[in-house]
Amino acid sequence: MNQSDMILIINDTILNFKKEIKQPVIMFIEQQRFSKLLDLMELKKHLHLTPCFVAEMKGGNIIYYCEEIIQKLINDFSKEKQKIFLEAITLHELFHIWNKIPINDAEEAIASELIVHEEIKKIYPKENKILNEFQQKINKLPKNH
Ligand SMILES: [Zn+2]
Repeated sequence: MNQSDMILIINDTILNFKKEIKQPVIMFIEQQRFSKLLDLMELKKHLHLTPCFVAEMKGGNIIYYCEEIIQKLINDFSKEKQKIFLEAITLHELFHIWNKIPINDAEEAIASELIVHEEIKKIYPKENKILNEFQQKINKLPKNH
């Protein structure tokens, strides 16, 4: 899957999102910048396990994607599963946008993730399944990985 395939799937997911939100801008950036932005946002995540994230700007939301990281995460998936994965990670960010939960500390961050998980589980079961598989992969990694 190349970047233009990804953009098609992402845009499709945004346009078909079942909740009403102001349309976010999507941007693909290379890994070094992606990593710096993640640090700036103080998102303490595993870089190579973070395919995208949303940032709130004055003019609206931007969802940043890193193609390199996505490729590594999906390269052993079937074509169909790659597509669902991309839809799922996009839906995840769209629910963050819809929820508009301010995050000031780690506790609120965790709560915000749990809410998104519940929402996706309820409304998008197919995508939820693939996100759970992905989460299990992450959970199996050593703590300080
Ligand atoms: Zn999240």
